[in-house]
This record gives sequence, C-alpha cells and structure tokens, in this order.
Amino acid sequence: MKNVFVVGAGPAGLFAAQKIALAGHEVFVFNRDIKPGGLAEYGIYPTKTTMKSGLRKQFSRVLSLPNLHYFGNVKIGSAYDVTLDDLKALAPSALVVTCGAQGYNKLNLSGENAKGVYSAKDFVYHYNQLPPYASEDFSTGKRIAVVGMGNVAADVMRWLLEDSPGRQTEEVIVVARRGPYEAKFAVKELGHVEAHMDRGEFIQELERVKARCVACDQDVSVEKIGNATFPGLRKDNLVQASPKLTFRFLCSPKEIVVGPDGRIRQLVVTENDLVSRGDGTTGAKATDNTAVLDVDTLIFAIGDKQDSGLGLPMGPDGYATKPNFESPSEPVYEMWDPRTAKSLDGIYVAGWARLASTGLVGIARHDGENAAGKVIEYLKAVPEKDSLHAFEIEALLESKGLHPVNKCDLFTLGRVEEREARARDLVSFKYSDNRAMLNAIRQEKPATAANVLLAARQPLKVPATESLGTLLTTR
Ligand SMILES: Cc1cc2nc3c(=O)[nH]c(=O)nc-3n(C[C@H](O)[C@H](O)[C@H](O)COP(=O)(O)OP(=O)(O)OC[C@H]3O[C@@H](n4cnc5c(N)ncnc54)[C@H](O)[C@@H]3O)c2cc1C
Repeated sequence: MKNVFVVGAGPAGLFAAQKIALAGHEVFVFNRDIKPGGLAEYGIYPTKTTMKSGLRKQFSRVLSLPNLHYFGNVKIGSAYDVTLDDLKALAPSALVVTCGAQGYNKLNLSGENAKGVYSAKDFVYHYNQLPPYASEDFSTGKRIAVVGMGNVAADVMRWLLEDSPGRQTEEVIVVARRGPYEAKFAVKELGHVEAHMDRGEFIQELERVKARCVACDQDVSVEKIGNATFPGLRKDNLVQASPKLTFRFLCSPKEIVVGPDGRIRQLVVTENDLVSRGDGTTGAKATDNTAVLDVDTLIFAIGDKQDSGLGLPMGPDGYATKPNFESPSEPVYEMWDPRTAKSLDGIYVAGWARLASTGLVGIARHDGENAAGKVIEYLKAVPEKDSLHAFEIEALLESKGLHPVNKCDLFTLGRVEEREARARDLVSFKYSDNRAMLNAIRQEKPATAANVLLAARQPLKVPATESLGTLLTTR
C-alpha cells in the first residue's frame, strides 16, 4: 500500500482518487474549497438540480471509501497555504494535480477593474455561492454586454435573463469577435434563452455583417444560420420574451469607459473583418471603425487558463506534460519541466488542470481515471515509503493555523444544511461563507468517541530526516 496525494476535488480529482483507492492505495485529497465537487458544485447552472444532486451522490460514494482521506479548505500552491514542496516533504509515492483551470483570459483593457466588469468564471462562482465570491459585489444593471459565444456565456445570459433574483436586466448584448457561424453554444443551452432573441433585430444584425461574412464565402441568410448555429430562428412561434437578447457580431472590446461612480458606462468596440485562414477556419481582423455600446455591466467569457500560483511549470495548454513526439494527439498525464527537459517524477495532472475548458463532467472523469491508471502502473515500480497517517497530516495542517475540513466534518455540514433547509422551508440550503460553514461544523460536532480518540493522538510519525518545522513551513 502506498500513499498518493491528489490536489483538487472536482470530478477529475475525485474519480482519479476513487480509482487509486480501489486499487488498494491510501489516497489523500487536498481541496481549496470546503466542499468537494469543483465546478460540478460551483459552476454547473444552479437549476440543473437533478444533475447536481446525482453528482453529489457519486462524490459522497467516492468519499465513503475508508482508505480515501479528505482535507478541504486547504489551498495548495507556491502562493498559498501549503506549497507543493511542503506536500512532497510528506513523502507521498505519487501526486496527482487536478486543481482545474482557476485563471481566465483577460480583456487587457484599462477599466477592467471598474465596478460592473466581471470575468464570467467569477460571476458564475458568485451565483453558485462559492466563498468568497458569493459575498462579493457582482451587481448587474439594465444593459449588460456579455463577451463570448460559448456555453459559459450561455449560462451567464440565462442567469441575467431568467433566474437572477432581483435582476434589473432590460437587454443583454452578446459581443462576438467573429460572426454567427462561429457561435459555439450547445443547442440545449441556447434553447434556454432563445425566446428572448428579438428576431427582427437579429435579422438586421445579419444584414449589418453580411458583406464581411460573404467575403469569407459565408451565407448569412436566416435559413442557413437557423440550420447551423441558431436553431431558434427556424421556429415560427419564437416568442419575444422580455428582457431582450441581442447580438453584436464581428466586434471586439476596445475601451471601457468608466463613469464618475466608478462603474462601467460604455463599451467601445472595434469592428472586425472576418478573414479566412485557409484551413477552413476563420479569424477576426480589427478595422479602424469603432462603435459605442451604452452598458452598465460587462461580463467576459473568453476562456480559462491554469493558475500560475500553484508553482508548476506551464506548457502551451496548461501545466506542462511530457512531450509525446510519437503520437502528439495522445494525452500525456506525466508532468514535465521544460527548463530541465525532465519528467517531474511521480507527478501527474488531469482534467481542466491538464486542458483548460475541455469538456463536460464526463470528460473530466474519464481524464482523471486515465491519469489514475498511469499512477497505478507507476506505483508498481516504486518502493514503499514511511509516510504519515491522515490524523497526523490533519494535525500538521492545523499546526500551520489552517482549518482543514475532513469527511466527518462534511457529513456534519450536510446534516446542518438539510436542517436549515427544512427550517426555512426551502428545497435546499447552502452556506455561502467559509466562516459560517466552519462555525456550523464546530457547533454541531458532538463530543463523540472519535473526538476523544483524536485527543489521545499517537505521537506524530514523521518520515526519516524530516522535522515538523521543515515539513510545513509557515508563510
Ligand atoms: C460555468 C460552467 C458550467 C458548466 N456546466 C456544465 C454542465 O452543465 N454539465 C457538465 O457536464 N459540465 C459542465 N461544466 C464543465 C464541468 O464543470 C467540468 O468539466 C469539470 O468540473 C472539470 O473538472 P476538474 O476536476 O478538472 O476541475 P474543477 O471542477 O474546476 O475542480 C477543481 C478542484 O480543484 C480545487 N482547487 C483549485 N485550486 C486549488 C488549489 N490551489 N489547491 C487545492 N485545490 C484547488 C477546487 O476547489 C476544485 O475542487 C461547466 C463548467 C463551467 C465553467
């Protein structure tokens, strides 16, 4: 039996952990959030309750494995609570990084920090109640520009048009770098908002960009676009629901004009030409023409990227993995240091940490399980190490001033939240503040036999040559 550390408890991390634990190894999961699930808990649209509760049940089953240990509320990284070197000092036989893609592509415009300008990732975390985003100001106004034409943008549009409590939305304007054929919305996701599309205005917009699309041999007739990317246009009975959803194709944000109250007042956009790249794909080329959109909110959904604060070497798609010259399309899970051109021995990466924004939960699960398969193979060739027990690791984390949340605490929290839901007559209740969650756990925790046992802990068993001080350095 060998110890394996997993960083992150999203779908990739949890399903990787499950496979490694079922192979008979001891698995320790370190997670930034108190609760497990990652984007499955804090990204997937709030009203997809069946999907979310189904995933929660699967995650509970994973966590119920006796040789799988959980430390929530612990952020790993060179810039955070515990460094990767700290973890390595605890002598795991292998380490799997599944911390997702926590960064995002920025607009790189002055005014990006103005009130009312948000990255879609942060906005989604806010409405899904992830601390600390849940309690920060993500107020939206009446006219909202959403930059991007992918499924995250579709979720944001849906929230603004349909579900945000206390919304003031009058119009959502989708700002897209390229044209209507380049929309990447899944039919189902767009279906949630297409009733808000003003058909007349959409046709006018197609007319406005027609010449630029025709230059790339694109036919932007309503019929063709309806068959390609906006199926709602084929429906005769498209209802014009309020508030309205409009599109502004072939333009990119150029300038954020900030009002005296510090909030975005206008978005200046550059008109783009559509250019053919010669391989069947298109690109956008800025022209000298600009236009001004009067908006009080701007949310950009232009892609995610990995968090450099983890301190791992970065490659072109995410954290660097070993190059695979023989079959470049085959995924590689083994991490790599491009500076030394050597593998990071025993360190693997999976899920959105390996490839940002790639696929749904099922793909992340598959990726985590693939990585786990590689880890299990690797473990066959490495000797057993003298490593720590879960309660010892928990004590080390606590000695660093952290408040790790274990599986027992999660169970307690779940029980309190269920009780709160009943008391408030809600279908479900979810704390949106770490302090409130920790308090709830503390107050609920009975002085059980387990706690008595914890109090009578054995002396810490530290790997040879290491001292407590060097194991977890206080920063
Ligand atoms: C807005 C949105 C909506 C989506 N909707 C759907 C949908 O409807 N259906 C669907 O199937 N898929 C959906 N997805 C995709 C799905 O959520 C992802 O495929 C999946 O969650 C990726 O899993 P992951 O484990 O790689 O990363 P994540 O889910 O991002 O998990 C990362 C984990 O790492 C932890 N972590 C991060 N940084 C650190 C750190 N420094 N130290 C320790 N832990 C850390 C986080 O707490 C988290 O637990 C959606 C994604 C988004 C963004």
